[in-house]
Amino acid sequence: MRNAPIDPFAAQDIRDQVDKVLSGLGNPAPPVDLREVRELLKLDRQFYSSTNTGPLRESISAVKIGAKQIAKRPTLILDVVRKAGLKALWLPDRRRILIDEGIPDLKKRHTEAHEITHSITPHHQHFLFGDDEETLRSSCHEKLEAEANYGSGRLLFLGDRFEQEASELPRTLATVKRLAKGYGNTITMTLWRLVEEAHQGTPMFGVISVHPIRLGPEFDPRLPCRYFIESPAFRERFGNVTEASAFQAIQRYASGRAGGPLGVGEQVFIGQRGERHLFRMETFFNGYRALTLGTYVRPVATVVAAS
Ligand SMILES: [Zn+2]
Repeated sequence: MRNAPIDPFAAQDIRDQVDKVLSGLGNPAPPVDLREVRELLKLDRQFYSSTNTGPLRESISAVKIGAKQIAKRPTLILDVVRKAGLKALWLPDRRRILIDEGIPDLKKRHTEAHEITHSITPHHQHFLFGDDEETLRSSCHEKLEAEANYGSGRLLFLGDRFEQEASELPRTLATVKRLAKGYGNTITMTLWRLVEEAHQGTPMFGVISVHPIRLGPEFDPRLPCRYFIESPAFRERFGNVTEASAFQAIQRYASGRAGGPLGVGEQVFIGQRGERHLFRMETFFNGYRALTLGTYVRPVATVVAAS
């Protein structure tokens, strides 16, 4: 599944709103403290769980999940959360964010930043949004949800700061890990932002997949990459490269190790106009997903290209 760019006008709007928040906080150093963000915006945050349903014992009149309208008449929040498997909600009239306690901590940060974006984006802030696992994924294609995920990235990676910092560092997974730690976000989300925002003009891609050698039973050869993230320059010049060919390239150099770095390889990809270019690729397995970063090296005159 490939990433899709969001509407440029909405993106600009969200960047402006997030920048306003960051400047209201005095443009802090990473990691951004979401407690301070909530204080600045006068937002209330509450956690709920199956045993702590207190925050859900109020009723709401309507809720949207992605493009779907879920409730049309007054309904107990608890019933909506259970029925739709919600992980988080934005309640505009109460200026309140509700989050499922069971979400892992680093993902909670993204979830909260996603709801904060609903609260500060003019064309979102008056709707009551419910979020499930799908709408919170960076790959979500539903318009308003993709925008909220974009805003979360802008907030958690401090506006333009991440792009500037990342662009001065080598295009490697070590950089991704270092920045993930510094900004307090997941490695997956950091890889995603690095590919989409840093080193503008350089073709880069990221792959999030199963272990390339120890293919599990859920492996689907037709959809080998859970996510295939393209940088704008990659999309423009190498949008013809298939997910299958990227995954096969990983399989050529990756080791079968159960965790940690799986190796580095070089691969020639053929661009839109039939020209050949060399990429450096590197893969890491976190015990759950394999993360790969591919970055442009140079054009190749005469090399036998592997598909
Ligand atoms: Zn949402």
